[in-house]
Amino acid sequence: MPSHPEPSCRLRDRRSRFVDIFRTTPARTVCPNFYVLAHANGCTFRPRCEYCYLKSTFWHLPRQEAFSNLDRMLEEVRRWIAQDGLESYVLNSGNLSDSLAFEEVRPMMARLVDVFRNADAAGRPHTLLLVTKGGVRQCAALLESPPCPNVIVSFSVNCPEAAQVYERGAAPVADRIEAARRVRAAGWRLRMRIDPMFVGHDYRKVAAEVRALRPERVTLGSLRAEPHLLRVVDHGLFAALEKPAEKSGLARYPLAARLALYRPAVEALRDVCPIGLCEETRDVWDALGLDADAKCCNCGA
Ligand code: SF4
Repeated sequence: MPSHPEPSCRLRDRRSRFVDIFRTTPARTVCPNFYVLAHANGCTFRPRCEYCYLKSTFWHLPRQEAFSNLDRMLEEVRRWIAQDGLESYVLNSGNLSDSLAFEEVRPMMARLVDVFRNADAAGRPHTLLLVTKGGVRQCAALLESPPCPNVIVSFSVNCPEAAQVYERGAAPVADRIEAARRVRAAGWRLRMRIDPMFVGHDYRKVAAEVRALRPERVTLGSLRAEPHLLRVVDHGLFAALEKPAEKSGLARYPLAARLALYRPAVEALRDVCPIGLCEETRDVWDALGLDADAKCCNCGA
């Protein structure tokens, strides 16, 4: 079972911007730019996922924190929605935190979604992206209100055996899948990620479950780590990865191992919806017959 939110989550006002562009993708990866909503730093799921890159991003924070000056945050989001000519119209609330993990300690999703309902009513293209490893409980605010076409809910899942080892604090995979099913049945836009995939695990069953959900898009990823995360998480998890060729690149499984992980999932899902890869290189997109230029992955429009 997932752990309860850590009581030591700190609530404080954010003084810097809530909305900013994110362009710093590692060398050679095929990733779209997008805007980030900095509503919290870290994640309340405990223990944190073994591979979580937030261990590296927020290595200096003694505990996770959520921002409580929501009126200012929502006003900034409204100003972003009023802008034209942006390089992306996606606002990702799951880049610096899980999008829904803080709902029980600092509820905000109902108010945030209402801002995007107004965007929809005004014909604006701006879209909120939620990225979560939460289950039905974390999705309560969504399931209690009507869907909004300017909001996408993206669940990240794994095969249950891997999740029991590497994602023990997140909602169980069956709970995530059930939440996705309910969100989809309620009419919300749904994207799914199978990420990160681990060598030695069989992803055919979870790919079939994702297929049954009929999401609008699926993104696949495999275990990877940037240089600082390799130093912060030093307990052997990343031992099977090859060191990156470039200074700022990602350590990854060897190419053949990544292709062997992705191929069965791509074949299971190819006729269901567009498939993207997370933080992968162009040669891998090409080898799998995926359109790298379309960048139809989780964070794209
Ligand atoms: S659910 Fe996401 S943000 Fe939370 S610990 Fe796991 S990987 Fe990190």
